[in-house]
Amino acid sequence: MDRFRHHRDRLWCEEVPLDVLARRVGTPAYVYSAGTIRDHVRRLRAAFADLDPLVCYAVKANGNLAVLRVLLEEGCGLDIVSGGELARARRLGAPGARIVFSGVGKTRAEMEAGLAAGVRLFNVESEPELDLLEQVATARGQVAPVGIRLNPDVDPRTHRHITTGRRENKFGVDLAAGERLARRAARSPALRLQALQCHIGSQVTSVEPYAEALGRVAALAARLRPEAPDLEWLDMGGGFGVWYRDQAAPGFEAYAAAVRPIVKASGLRLLMEPGRVLVGNAGVLLARVLYEKRGGGKRFVIVDAGMNDLLRPSLYDAYHRVWPATGPPPPPLGEEGAGERADVVGPVCESGDFLARDRALPPVAPGAVLAVFGVGAYGFAMASTYNDRPRPCEVLVDGARYAVVRERETHADLMRLERPDAPFQAVEDRADPEGVA
Ligand SMILES: *Cc1c(COP(=O)(O)O)cnc(C)c1O
Repeated sequence: MDRFRHHRDRLWCEEVPLDVLARRVGTPAYVYSAGTIRDHVRRLRAAFADLDPLVCYAVKANGNLAVLRVLLEEGCGLDIVSGGELARARRLGAPGARIVFSGVGKTRAEMEAGLAAGVRLFNVESEPELDLLEQVATARGQVAPVGIRLNPDVDPRTHRHITTGRRENKFGVDLAAGERLARRAARSPALRLQALQCHIGSQVTSVEPYAEALGRVAALAARLRPEAPDLEWLDMGGGFGVWYRDQAAPGFEAYAAAVRPIVKASGLRLLMEPGRVLVGNAGVLLARVLYEKRGGGKRFVIVDAGMNDLLRPSLYDAYHRVWPATGPPPPPLGEEGAGERADVVGPVCESGDFLARDRALPPVAPGAVLAVFGVGAYGFAMASTYNDRPRPCEVLVDGARYAVVRERETHADLMRLERPDAPFQAVEDRADPEGVA
């Protein structure tokens, strides 16, 4: 469900025609629909209303400040995985009580910043991390609120790169180790055990893995409760799937129904960390057709956006619908459109640089604008400047108006931190030149 529509021979984001927007802001450009993001949050809340969850949006999916502001205004908290994301949250004045600090490799400095900001929870993923957090909290004279991230060894049946809750993944600790860690946190005067968490993967399109994983976490919570009076939260992580190719992902109600009995029986409150599902379908990438060519019996449409702008197709073989911003309507979700098949490729010097492969696409002339759908999550967030391509601008549409909420990078930006004339400096400890040779 989103607010991108075809109407009178054009694609629109809410009430703004995408071809006009492309002319105004240039291409490539990421365009987000504020109304779609609000809809998603409201529908999620409605589905889980009786559980009154704390919804902490996973900033890494799309950390644009204007996008975060929309989510904060909707009452969301934030799930962060770095000091950089914490800085974004602080810049917007997000209250610490609505921030959850996740991540498998938090540094001492990040822990200190999190404690200073009064975050609601640190989700801890290993024993040495718990040790360090205890040390840092003790040194600051603070008590650190702790969740233990468990690895429930459940197969979410998604892409292997975005599977996180199997035994062989680097995330979390297994249930036995988790129990030990939780007990240790509950006993420490510098730590307060407040949550048990799991996050089984991303783009999870069935509800059973959630029930299975959260069931295991809740069983552990029940065992721990006598020793952990501060245990307050069951954190089910994120990972809800979105509609990319077809309508394969279940609705919010289905996820809610799967976990409701477990949460109710636990007597704990529900915390969740959705990223993709709130913003994924709320964004498109606009690209302009540069050339069309044929070779090896194939049609290639070469556009001005590449893998540096949108990495997901190259990295995960991700499927994103692509359609011209003007002309006939796109096919319904899950169906093929009319037109000769083409690969839509970018200008980057890599064979893996494509946005879509083997897609039916109407004829497009050079200069035509294409919309790549479903790129609101892990789109700009994963963009790079590879091939010295400035990153695209980001635009937020709200009703009939738009704002450029991140400017297009310039060539000067690309070189801003480089110091070709930096003086060389000597170090004290030098390898014996003989030894080095
Ligand atoms: C990435 C991540 C999320 C969000 O995942 P989505 O698939 O975008 O919903 C939530 N929690 C943690 C710990 C994560 O690392």
